[in-house]
Amino acid sequence: MAPRPHWIFGDQLGPHFLDPRHGGPDAHAPVVMIEARSVLRRRRFHRAKAHLVLSAMRHRAAELGDRVTYIRAETYAEGLERAVGIGAARRPRAAREADTDGTAERSSGGRLTVCHPTSRAALAFLGAYDDIEILPARGFLVARDDFEQWAGHGGGRSLRLEGFYRWVRERHDLLMEGGEPAGGTWNLDHDNREPPPRGQDTLDVRAAWQPHEDDIDDEVRRDLDRWERDGEVGFVGRDGPRRFPATRREAMSALRHFVTHRLEDFGRYEDAMLAADPVMSHSLLSAPMNLGLLDPAECVDRAERAYRSGNAPLNSVEGFVRQISGWREYVWHLYWHFGEDYRTRNALRHTAPVPDWFLELDADAVTANCLSTVLAQVRDTGWTHHIPRLMVLGSRALQDGWDPAAVTDWFHRCFVDGYDWVMLPNVVGMSQYADGGLMTTKPYTSGGAYIHRMSDLCGPCAYRPTERTGDRACPYTTGYWAFMDRHRTRLSSNHRTARAVKGLDRLKDLDEVLTQAKERGAAPP
Ligand code: FAD
Ligand code: SF4
Repeated sequence: MAPRPHWIFGDQLGPHFLDPRHGGPDAHAPVVMIEARSVLRRRRFHRAKAHLVLSAMRHRAAELGDRVTYIRAETYAEGLERAVGIGAARRPRAAREADTDGTAERSSGGRLTVCHPTSRAALAFLGAYDDIEILPARGFLVARDDFEQWAGHGGGRSLRLEGFYRWVRERHDLLMEGGEPAGGTWNLDHDNREPPPRGQDTLDVRAAWQPHEDDIDDEVRRDLDRWERDGEVGFVGRDGPRRFPATRREAMSALRHFVTHRLEDFGRYEDAMLAADPVMSHSLLSAPMNLGLLDPAECVDRAERAYRSGNAPLNSVEGFVRQISGWREYVWHLYWHFGEDYRTRNALRHTAPVPDWFLELDADAVTANCLSTVLAQVRDTGWTHHIPRLMVLGSRALQDGWDPAAVTDWFHRCFVDGYDWVMLPNVVGMSQYADGGLMTTKPYTSGGAYIHRMSDLCGPCAYRPTERTGDRACPYTTGYWAFMDRHRTRLSSNHRTARAVKGLDRLKDLDEVLTQAKERGAAPP
């Protein structure tokens, strides 16, 4: 029997998505790829993200040569019709919606196969087709059913990262020695929270891997320029040289480079920020992993080998393994586990619109040095590491009470590694506490003191991190107290924030602080 064609989405670009073993597509299946313009029309993405995704898709198509039918269409539906001549069946709405919990793998013996997509919208779209067989998800360590089993049993009672991470380590025998964690401890976070080295503008590590653009990038740039000129699509952020891998070969080079030259220093300064060194020792591997160019299993495997051969210390390797086999997996599974209504959660009832200066990445309009610096990094590259995302950008949104769904949309559009599955738990849960604590035990926000300790950003700033009123009051410090006051009742009953609420009562100038926060309003801080 002739192999059935297999459709790969734009985030399923690595060889593991075509591997016929373990319930994969038919061996030697012809491949279908669809570049749907409607995706770009729907949202104003960062220019660098649009470039990266199109470049990666077109590079993959070039590699697959005659094996692929690459369709440029207005919509996926049109693309499928043209590529394989199939149209949507009129399946009842209830049946389509039942598919969106992420456990659906339809073995209908369809005429076309596809690996489980990464968004509920794509899953619902596939649900409308009787002719499509959905194969198990790839690109993650833990299968959906296994996660649900964990979540349903003792270990998952509180659904916290730490329990899940230890379970993954044991199950996948990651960094384990005789049934115990390597080095005798699961968690080396306390070694991984150092402030940046004083007196240094940059970390003393080898520069991150950089790609070279080619003809395909030129073509993508011309297309994006033309579509933008014709008013078909709009972007945020600046165009610039492509900074992230677009092919498997490039992704492997980036992984090797990181493990060989940069992993060693990954742990120590993982949470620190330096204005002139936005990347520090981070891996920059989220984009190729989320495009499916790298499998997380090979990333953690290489890191572990570096530890075993004495080329990287345990705190760095454990930190990296935790990020991938812990956080990344956890976020993926929570996306499906929490259900569709998770995206509209708003436990703190935050409804303020995201201000224009933030939407437009207008770093120059901002005086606060931390925010201006980080916003400029996003504007110029579509990337910053996890602490600026959480403690500078997300914290600003949380303190000012911006609508969490709009904040999620902003992160999704503006980050090169942003996809629905990864944004929802990270922004709704982790950063905006809009789920009321399903994912984290407390809201993540701080006054300027934290940013001052963990960065070199406060020194040249017009504000002072310790001041909460007056011309030089730090907007993070003022905003922190205003946030605590606004949610005083809820936060006083949480044992992790109760002490901070008590601190409010000791503030003699609280009224002034609240007036200052109110007067600033939505103006750029
Ligand atoms: P490193 O610091 O080198 O970490 C290694 C890898 O761990 C990353 O490549 C990534 O694959 C994984 N990882 C670590 N933390 C997470 C996490 N919380 N969720 C998922 N993967 C994680 N990550 C994304 O991939 N896409 C996003 O859209 C995204 N949005 C975020 C939004 C907010 C508000 C926050 C707080 C975090 C977000 N993250 C997101 C997680 C994290 O910030 C990025 O994965 C990381 O900064 C990417 O840079 P890196 O590859 O150098 O990561
Ligand atoms: Fe940011 Fe406040 Fe420090 Fe300025 S003083 S850089 S606003 S934390």
